[in-house]
Amino acid sequence: MNSATPRRPLLAANWKMYKGPQSTAAFVERFAPLYSRHPDRTVLFFPPAISLQAFLDARGDRTDLEVGIQDVHTAREGAHTGAISAAMAAEAGVAWGLAGHSERRREFNDDDRAVSLKLCRLLEAGLRPVLCVGETLEERRGGRLEAVLTRQLEAVLDHVDEGASVEWADRVLAYEPVWAIGTGETATPSDAAEAHGLIRSVLARRVGAAGALAATILYGGSVKPENIRELLTADGVDGVLVGGASLDPDSFAVICEGGMDR
Ligand code: PEP
Repeated sequence: MNSATPRRPLLAANWKMYKGPQSTAAFVERFAPLYSRHPDRTVLFFPPAISLQAFLDARGDRTDLEVGIQDVHTAREGAHTGAISAAMAAEAGVAWGLAGHSERRREFNDDDRAVSLKLCRLLEAGLRPVLCVGETLEERRGGRLEAVLTRQLEAVLDHVDEGASVEWADRVLAYEPVWAIGTGETATPSDAAEAHGLIRSVLARRVGAAGALAATILYGGSVKPENIRELLTADGVDGVLVGGASLDPDSFAVICEGGMDR
C-alpha cells in the first residue's frame, strides 16, 4: 500500500472454524484496548457464524470493529439444512461477506458460478462482499497466474454487474495465492504487486480505469506482524486478509496498529 493510494486501507481477519462465542468475546475484550480507533482505516472480522452475535455484543460501542459473514448460500432462502442466507446475515447485523475463499472452493466445491451467485446474494442483501481470487502452486508453476485470475474475476463480473448498483469504490477483492494460505509461505512484495496489477488490469478492461482504481485489493497469505510492513508497501496492496495471525489479539493488533505507520 503506498501513501499515494486514494483507497482506504482495510485490515481483515478471517477466523475460519476457530473461536466459539466465549472465545470470541474474550478476543474482543483483549483486542479492543490494544487497537485504538483509527478513522483512516477499516478493521474487519469474519468470525464463524455461530459467534457473530457474541462479537456484536462484545464490541459494544466499538462499531469501528466491523463484522462480516464467512460464507452464505447461493440461494435466497429454501430447504438447505444448516445453511445461512445473505439476507439472514444482514438481519443479524453484519455488514460484510466473504466469497470465493480458496478453502470454500476446494473443500465445498464452490466453483466460479457458485461464487458469482454468492456475490450477487451478498449485494442484494446490502452486504459488502470481499471476493477472493488466487492461483494454486501448480497453476503458478505452469505459468497460468494471469489466466486463473482472469477466469475467476471474469466469471464473477459476467454475473454481478447486471443490475448491481454498487460503486467500484465499495468493491473489495483479495488476492490470496493458495500456496501461501496457512503454509507460512508468503508472496514477496513484488509477487503481490504483480498479481494486484493483473487484477486491476482485468477490472480496467471490464469496468473502466476509474472503477479499477477505486477498487480495494487486499493481499492474503501468511500475513503476520513480521511481514506486514513490507507487504503494505507493495504497489497496489490496499490492505490484508489474515487467517492464522488474526486469531491472536496481540498479533492482530500489531498488524492493525503497528503495521500501519505510513
Ligand atoms: C486466509 O485464510 O484468508 C489466510 C490468508 O490465511 P493465513 O493468513 O493463515 O495464510
